[in-house]
Amino acid sequence: MKAIQVQKPGGPEVLTLVDLPVPTPKPNEAIVKIAAAGVNFIDVYFREGRYPTPLPFVDGQEAAGTVTEVGADVKSLKPGDRVAYTGVMGAYAEYAAVPADRLIRVPEKLSDQQAAGAMLQGMTAHYLIHTTYPLKKGETALIHAAAGGVGLLMVQMAKNLGARVIATVGSAAKAKLAKDAGADDVIIYTEQDFEAETKRLTAGAGVHVVYDGVGKTTFDGGINVLRPRGYMVLFGGASGPVAAFDPIKLAQKGSLFLTRPSLAHYIASREELEQRASDVLGWIADGKLKLRIEHIYKLADVQQAHRDLEGRKTTGKLVLVP
Ligand code: NDP
Repeated sequence: MKAIQVQKPGGPEVLTLVDLPVPTPKPNEAIVKIAAAGVNFIDVYFREGRYPTPLPFVDGQEAAGTVTEVGADVKSLKPGDRVAYTGVMGAYAEYAAVPADRLIRVPEKLSDQQAAGAMLQGMTAHYLIHTTYPLKKGETALIHAAAGGVGLLMVQMAKNLGARVIATVGSAAKAKLAKDAGADDVIIYTEQDFEAETKRLTAGAGVHVVYDGVGKTTFDGGINVLRPRGYMVLFGGASGPVAAFDPIKLAQKGSLFLTRPSLAHYIASREELEQRASDVLGWIADGKLKLRIEHIYKLADVQQAHRDLEGRKTTGKLVLVP
């Protein structure tokens, strides 16, 4: 089968198209013939070695497709079932071996590309907005990179809960997307000082929560726009890792809370995985949540997909088709 392997950490050029044997299932696994794989920023972190992992490895954490074979202990699935998953490395390939307890059945209404595109970013937006800091009606959230994959979904979920959303984006075209997704105010943080603007938009009061997946360039400003006892939810570093931080600053800035959550810990149990996946896939099927799949690449063009994602050229979801 065709797969995209990383043999040494580096730039997009280390994503190498190789031929590998089709995997065989362990007793608890199913083999999934992949119809579409999601591209996510975490794939960049693994590729460049920011998140170290044994080499070589097949990149990619998210896909949808059809079960072709199951291991001896798997009773819940059979060949032909349509499934989707996230959190298992090796999705940039034609086939993947996936523990059966990580697979979710795909509702009939959803395409493979929608299912592949919704799992990682959809469940991330879900846990950030509903669980890490459960946003309430009438509260104000600052959401960075709001036209990105996670960003567009977070804006919609926050608005569905009745919160006020101040969004940041890198360009005027992205600002329109964030507005269309429901953001009340949009700041183009490459042109405007988002800290000053957020203070102005909240009449100096600040926001209840900052959802920050950008990291290095936004973290300090975000800390400065929180109300007393506000929450800094730092969930990524698209601009680079945040510098070392002295916790005394949390007290000085108003007894703030800081968390650095990861999806894995919010879908660790089968029950939590099913509940989040069923909400996200169900909302997309019902039209309550719009998934923007603007960028579809062939598996062999994955280097371009990574260049576009890192180059801030994309909005919404990127999908690879084997
Ligand atoms: P996005 O589609 O949001 O792409 C990243 C965006 O970050 C860019 O489009 C860009 O938007 C913005 N950005 C700002 N500065 C930079 C920079 N210097 N270089 C590149 N991008 C920059 O990606 P994802 O939706 O896949 O991921 C968003 C973030 O969420 C990432 O940090 C990712 O690691 C994190 N994440 C965390 C998870 C968790 O559980 N902790 C799970 C899933 C994702 P703009 O031009 O508008 O600034």
